[in-house]
Amino acid sequence: MIKYCQSCGMPIVSRMSLSFNKDGSYNYDFCKSCYKFGKFKSET
Ligand SMILES: [Zn+2]
Repeated sequence: MIKYCQSCGMPIVSRMSLSFNKDGSYNYDFCKSCYKFGKFKSET
């Protein structure tokens, strides 16, 4: 099953593309390009 990033729409094909939450768990809603350790990159 392929998930898509809820921000940019990029298909998340593997865990390598997943972002992480602040506690280090996987965040399945966003790719690592958009979201990192509890923060959106665009918010910086
Ligand atoms: Zn994304």
